[in-house]
Amino acid sequence: MEDTYRHKGLRRKLVEEIRKKGITDERVLDAIGKIPRHAFITDSALVEFAYRDAAFPINAGQTISQPYTVAFQTQLLQVQPHEKVLEIGTGSGYQGAVLFELSARVYTIERQRELHLKAQQLLGQLGYKLHFFYGDGYAGLPAYAPFDKILVTAGATEMPETLLQQLKTGGRMVIPVGDSEQQEMILVEKLSDGKITVSKHGTFAFVPFLKGKS
Ligand code: SAH
Repeated sequence: MEDTYRHKGLRRKLVEEIRKKGITDERVLDAIGKIPRHAFITDSALVEFAYRDAAFPINAGQTISQPYTVAFQTQLLQVQPHEKVLEIGTGSGYQGAVLFELSARVYTIERQRELHLKAQQLLGQLGYKLHFFYGDGYAGLPAYAPFDKILVTAGATEMPETLLQQLKTGGRMVIPVGDSEQQEMILVEKLSDGKITVSKHGTFAFVPFLKGKS
């Protein structure tokens, strides 16, 4: 995979664009500035647009999220080095690479086998060491729980209780919740006294969080 000066220049512009849109976390901006997004776009007709702040179709009718959305979710999650992070919806693997750049230990689940295999292969080539799982994200990963952070990158119709149970005390979960058209970005915090707080952070549009494996 070639990463040219042109790609690097386009990435710098992308970083400035999402900074203007309100992303302030320098670690998140640095991560976006490092990752060769053009390697994650599978459709050759779309590769030249890889550094536009837009979502693009990948295989299996799914999408690679818009960089602003990836940055927004990541910023809200407040990932610290060495934290154990569960990502639901591996997709292209781009969001997983961002989490890895933040020095998190990343566990990522995908229900489309094709995408799971592709992301595993690509991230391996790029040197991003994540733990990949093929399965239903609704079940989470009980064998590896609890997690410091949980990030859902598909639109849910409700808050999955199973995932909440797999969140550490003091942990944060970010999940878009709504209907098939649009979702509210929800931040769930599990406080030390066991209480849960929920806050809303704007409207987004994700592909659906579907039950079961494909
Ligand atoms: N994080 C991805 C975004 C992918 S879009 C990226 O950076 O590219 C959301 C992904 O969630 C899709 O690939 C979809 O197949 C997956 N998905 C939907 N429901 C799921 C479920 N129950 N378990 C695991 N993955 C799921």
